[in-house]
Amino acid sequence: MTTELPCPSCGQLVMCRVSADEELTEQREKDLALSACSCPAARLDRAEKAQIAEAQDNINMLCGEGAEENSMQPIECQDVHDIMNKAAELVAKGKIFELTVKVSGCGTVKISAGTKGQIKVKRTVGFSEQLEANQKY
Ligand SMILES: [Zn+2]
Repeated sequence: MTTELPCPSCGQLVMCRVSADEELTEQREKDLALSACSCPAARLDRAEKAQIAEAQDNINMLCGEGAEENSMQPIECQDVHDIMNKAAELVAKGKIFELTVKVSGCGTVKISAGTKGQIKVKRTVGFSEQLEANQKY
């Protein structure tokens, strides 16, 4: 079903698709409206989310399931992944410029902002691999 929800940025009502059994919280309503609205702030929000998702994929490529393809040992500790994923979000939002994590027995991971607004993920374990997520707008 669809329902009209106000965009938290511009205030206009936007048609949003929701499942009939879903109970909408205020935050969920805001997210839904932002994901459907065509105003610049909503587009920026979607671009930011897409960039964060790509940076987190890159973290997974270098530190998670994809690590072995890069001849690196996966980092097993979920809490470390939580910190790194959060760091990607904070870099995208401009709250921090970089975070370097020295992981016990697994080398160093640096998540940082590039000069063109990209989010860089670099892992060093004797050698380095770096992946970048570019800005989406
Ligand atoms: Zn809007």
